[in-house]
Amino acid sequence: MTAQYLLYEHIMMEFFRHLFKEDKMIRIDDDRCVRCGICVKECRNNVLAMVNDEKGLHVGVVHPENCSHCTHCVDSCSFKAISFSGETSKGRGKELAGIR
Ligand code: SF4
Ligand code: SF4
Repeated sequence: MTAQYLLYEHIMMEFFRHLFKEDKMIRIDDDRCVRCGICVKECRNNVLAMVNDEKGLHVGVVHPENCSHCTHCVDSCSFKAISFSGETSKGRGKELAGIR
C-alpha cells in the first residue's frame, strides 16, 4: 500500500465522516423529556431553549444551524430524550425552530 493510497483513503474517510455528521439534526423526544433544562444549559451554542407555546413547556431546537454536533446535550440527558435524526439542517435554519 503506497503513501498516496493511504492519503487518498484518509481524505475520502474524512469527507464522508463530515458529510454524515452535517446531515444529522438534533431532535427532542417530548414523551421522554421531563423538562429539566439540563441540556439547554449544556449547549454552548444556544441551539436549545425552553419554549412555552401551544405544545406547552418543552425543549425547542431554536438555532439548529449553530449545532456543532458535539453531543454534550445527548450525553447530559439521563432520559435518553435527545438524538440525531437523519434530516439535514443545511439551509433550513430558524425555519426548524421548535421541531420535535
Ligand atoms: S436533559 Fe433531557 S429530560 Fe432534561 S430537558 Fe433536556 S431533553 Fe428533556
Ligand atoms: S450537539 Fe452540541 S451544539 Fe448541538 S445542540 Fe447538542 S450541545 Fe448544542
